[in-house]
Amino acid sequence: MANSADPAAPARAAIGHTVWPARVAREPVNQPMINAWCDAIGETNPRYRAGFAPAAMLPVWTMRKFTPDPARVEGMAILQPFDAAGYVGVAATNLEQEYLRELRLGERVTEEATLEAVSDEKKTALGSGFFLTILHEFRVDSGEVVGRMRFRILKFRAREMAATARPAVAAAPPGRLRPPVNRDNAFFWEGIAAGRLLVQRCTGCGTLRHPPGPMCPQCQSLEWDTVQSSGRGTLYSFVVAHHPPIPPFEYPLPILLVDMEEGWRLVANAFQIERPALEIGMPLAVEIVEVEPGFRLPFFVRAAGG
Ligand SMILES: [Zn+2]
Repeated sequence: MANSADPAAPARAAIGHTVWPARVAREPVNQPMINAWCDAIGETNPRYRAGFAPAAMLPVWTMRKFTPDPARVEGMAILQPFDAAGYVGVAATNLEQEYLRELRLGERVTEEATLEAVSDEKKTALGSGFFLTILHEFRVDSGEVVGRMRFRILKFRAREMAATARPAVAAAPPGRLRPPVNRDNAFFWEGIAAGRLLVQRCTGCGTLRHPPGPMCPQCQSLEWDTVQSSGRGTLYSFVVAHHPPIPPFEYPLPILLVDMEEGWRLVANAFQIERPALEIGMPLAVEIVEVEPGFRLPFFVRAAGG
């Protein structure tokens, strides 16, 4: 590497330190803000008209305009050495929230953010870089922690910008971005890798759901298993993307929303179906295609006999 200094060293030295000054909520937990939030997402639980705030509302109380915030900019000075060393890209990769209890009317929230972890340099689909985890802790005036949020970013050097790749710019075209795999959807991508289309099933009420998630929207059960889909369905809706062209996709790019015969819906690209041939209601079938060595994705093809 041209730059022998470790760009992550200043960040590592800052682990455990606050990233920016504590933020105190402008208002205590109050019913008008709870009402607005519940209306916006369709939450009708009467508990939230009776003195409690939804736990998932936690970051709302201390939320501010994103930029410019001089205190934040100063706190993020740990990122400058990455930029100076060519790791100019930044991508948000994970957001985890942990709720310890619901807030009650009148409580006031303070949010503190500390740098929790800096990874070693990792190779990713975007390029080589470092993962930084920022831990946000939410407290009430007694000092009790009521929730946490972990926000992880990747500071990366884009693949085609890597110093070693510069002499031969005409190198490999950019690859497809890998899907973000988490505990909820890992089964789906492991299934695709093995050539099987799996769908999540609530074991409480039997409802199929997709995209995968931790809780059944019908019965709120957290218990689930998976079933293998036939892959057959009919075209419910579609769009054809023309712009902006993003490598490695080919345009025009049909993106299909398909009613699967088991009663769930899946979004995927069409494979070898041109726009004029697309008709709402047409029968389709999933084909799992190896788009790059070792990387498979589901596509829709015309169903046999369709
Ligand atoms: Zn259910």
